[in-house]
Amino acid sequence: MLAAARGLSQRRFSSTTVDGFTGAVGSTPLIYLKHLSEKTGARIFGKAEFQNPGGSVKDRAALGVVRDAEERGLLQAGGTVVEGTAGNTGIGLAHVCRARGYKCVIFMPNTQSQEKIDLLRMLGAEVHAVPAVAYENPANYNHQARDYAKDQPNTIWTNQFDNTANANAHYLTTGPEIWEQTQGKIDAFICATGTGGTLAGVGKALKEKSEGKTQVWLADPPGSVLTSYINSGGKLVERSGSSITEGIGQGRITDNLQTFVKDLDGAFTVPDEKSIEMVYELLDTEGLYIGASSALNVVAAAELGLKLGKGSTIVTILCDGAYRYQSRLFSKKWLQSKGLEGAIPGHLKKYAVL
Ligand code: PMP
Repeated sequence: MLAAARGLSQRRFSSTTVDGFTGAVGSTPLIYLKHLSEKTGARIFGKAEFQNPGGSVKDRAALGVVRDAEERGLLQAGGTVVEGTAGNTGIGLAHVCRARGYKCVIFMPNTQSQEKIDLLRMLGAEVHAVPAVAYENPANYNHQARDYAKDQPNTIWTNQFDNTANANAHYLTTGPEIWEQTQGKIDAFICATGTGGTLAGVGKALKEKSEGKTQVWLADPPGSVLTSYINSGGKLVERSGSSITEGIGQGRITDNLQTFVKDLDGAFTVPDEKSIEMVYELLDTEGLYIGASSALNVVAAAELGLKLGKGSTIVTILCDGAYRYQSRLFSKKWLQSKGLEGAIPGHLKKYAVL
């Protein structure tokens, strides 16, 4: 059993220094979720990606796509980085751009939380909050980012959905870190996807290192088509329904996900009620203040733990903190407006103070 699982050891102190913002990306702790593990009989771990210096799992992808563009000679000093992003990639890119002297331009759907829009502007990014329309519509934020960058000198559209430098960043860092932190004793990895970068990159690394023994599952929010795609053997249905979870769910198979989709062991959907309940439960039992996509991941990890049985080790991703969504997740009024106030168990309603 891992020392962390016994609750005996503190996080190891690193005696090395790192080089600036980009040097601080990655090497996040793997947190043993004690209460949930006791409840399920499995050993459930969350990779603390909220500890990245820009606050989310997307710092790794942001650094990965910028480094890749630099290495390929597409981006030189003083250049411009353009992206379509629901928020966290933009925040990661804005930090990386400041640290490396690039201009950052972000297109995002105007349905995203005000906290994220404000933060991007404070980080010096030029933000275009545009109407949230489907990917098929030419006015979709992602296409607007591509068009903005077209024909501009020393300007790149980082194209996080279909640029596999995104998944590669997780293949080279997140996956190997998880393998090392579990000492190779990992029965399954599960997480939700937006671009698919985390799932595909971590999944590929773990499959290779375990010689196919580690299972890799996808967890979906309502309104995403991926679960039905995987469980139907590749039928893509029209997107319908929605979720309060930000940054995850998908209507198509992105190039990042495409690199791994055939190797997935399974997929299932987690209803918003369960994700909200888990936001509050993790706060109450573990002291973890995490966003709804992380909560969805933890619900899914617990369900997979029950499926795989007592003693199985399941790892998931704690993508970001709740700070970016607190005006929503901890507001009774907002949850009520989404029909979700009843998802908070009675004894945890005290936390919904906004
Ligand atoms: N959770 C949050 C909060 C996110 O912003 C994202 C990225 N959109 C994800 C999860 C999913 O990560 P990925 O893009 O690697 O699939």
